Amino acid sequence: MFPKPPNGPDLVVVRTLPMVLLPISDDRRFHTYRLSFQTINTHFTCHMSVSKDFTIAIIGGGIAGLTLGIALHQRSIPVHIYEKAHHFGEIGAGVSFSSNAIDAMHVCHGGVHAAFARVATLNAWLSKSTVWFDYYDGMKSGASPEGSQKLFSITTPVGQNGLHRADFLDELVKLFPAEKAHFGKNFEEVSEGTDGKLVLKFADGTTAEADAVVGCDGIHSRVRRMVLGADHPSVEPVYTRKYAYRGAAPMDEAVAAIGEEKAKNAAFYLGNKGHVLTFAMKGGAQMNIVAFHDDPEPWTDTVHLTKWSTQGAALKDFEDFGPDVKKILGLTPPELNVWAIFDMGNPLPTFTKGRLVLTGDAAHATSPHHGSGAGFAIEDSAVLAELLADERVKTPEDIEVVFSAFNDVRLKRDHWLVKSSRFVGDCVEGMNPDIGMDWEKFHQEMVQRYDVVMGIDISKQAQLAKDNLHKRLA
Ligand SMILES: Cc1cc2nc3c(=O)[nH]c(=O)nc-3n(C[C@H](O)[C@H](O)[C@H](O)COP(=O)(O)OP(=O)(O)OC[C@H]3O[C@@H](n4cnc5c(N)ncnc54)[C@H](O)[C@@H]3O)c2cc1C
Repeated sequence: MFPKPPNGPDLVVVRTLPMVLLPISDDRRFHTYRLSFQTINTHFTCHMSVSKDFTIAIIGGGIAGLTLGIALHQRSIPVHIYEKAHHFGEIGAGVSFSSNAIDAMHVCHGGVHAAFARVATLNAWLSKSTVWFDYYDGMKSGASPEGSQKLFSITTPVGQNGLHRADFLDELVKLFPAEKAHFGKNFEEVSEGTDGKLVLKFADGTTAEADAVVGCDGIHSRVRRMVLGADHPSVEPVYTRKYAYRGAAPMDEAVAAIGEEKAKNAAFYLGNKGHVLTFAMKGGAQMNIVAFHDDPEPWTDTVHLTKWSTQGAALKDFEDFGPDVKKILGLTPPELNVWAIFDMGNPLPTFTKGRLVLTGDAAHATSPHHGSGAGFAIEDSAVLAELLADERVKTPEDIEVVFSAFNDVRLKRDHWLVKSSRFVGDCVEGMNPDIGMDWEKFHQEMVQRYDVVMGIDISKQAQLAKDNLHKRLA
């Protein structure tokens, strides 16, 4: 799909800046976006500065909060982030982004994309530069002497790009002014002050004022309680009856175990009541491993969604799987982290109330079977920042209208993700009654569903939201 001049080297187009071409001389090395970042560094989008008579408080400094904070700051909108931890940080785990998320990074600010580009690792083989995942039959019955058999590939314009979330957060933090980030601020509640300002109360007894609050406080959101009411049936996330072992292995060990093609390029092992996926990260030094398994039992500790388990337990869960899956699990440490997969299975009727709004996992925590929870959070940030920056939005009163316009364009798409991701989670484990283990039927489903995930022009959606806003303001 990329142009190749006669007798020239292979070329990769930096998608968002189509004029920038990067020669790739060796199709077996890990190519990252590092070069492209240096090339595009001077091309950051400039956002108009329009003075605003309001201040935004963001609760939570994860991917949703930071990308929104950066997008607002770059648009000269007064903004503060209140984070309950004592520094910005992420539990160590891999994450990847599809093309819709990468486009949204650009809309937020070119620096967000550059931050991503500095830490993302693509598939190693140039022949797989557009592959999102190669799908394999992960079961014993699907294995030949060479290991798991390939069934099909899902491709995207940007292929696969794995990164360690902590690395991404470290890069994003550099783009947000330190004096506007407040740590150790465990948000408890918000009320309206006498002067019309919103008063935020924190667990340490301190307060802060703002004209509007954006809840980016993740799956256990406190702001969600303020928006819906503490007793609302959609306030609590729901266990999807799946958990995931997460780990990473040194790439040389992974290559020795399962071969270069599967280790250095994104691979997805379909199975019965379980599935495993891997992709390269850390510049190709590590292979990220996520092994999901069905859980007949409830997850009783709804406060802590992770716990320690063992490699032995993982191998037992996957005992009916083929040799590749077992070799992958054999690369994990003796003790490894298990994540309970919760989502907003009871969709929120609205993301907003007055001058409060929710984005990211606070609004639409999803199971990760589309690999898109964080990506959709960045879409939220892009649309909300564009709305707040609109020149007609000047006063605190206008913000309520902005939040309604945001809700109108985002609610349906964000709800779709949660529902579709559950559907896919069942399909990849042979648990959908209509599809079973008919992997070709599943392939067709995936093609259609990834069209929805990636087939969005986020700038256009932001424009639609602005049109809606203008009508409402008029
Ligand atoms: C196994 C797994 C794999 C995944 N893989 C992918 C993937 O490949 N691609 C993808 O796009 N997504 C993926 N996701 C989803 C993604 O991780 C989340 O959607 C994303 O991290 C949500 O970001 P967030 O900022 O909304 O929430 P969080 O990351 O949870 O951040 C919330 C922040 O708010 C803070 N906070 C919470 N409460 C308060 C409070 N009361 N006061 C102040 N601060 C508070 C927290 O400390 C935290 O910093 C995956 C998820 C899982 C579980």
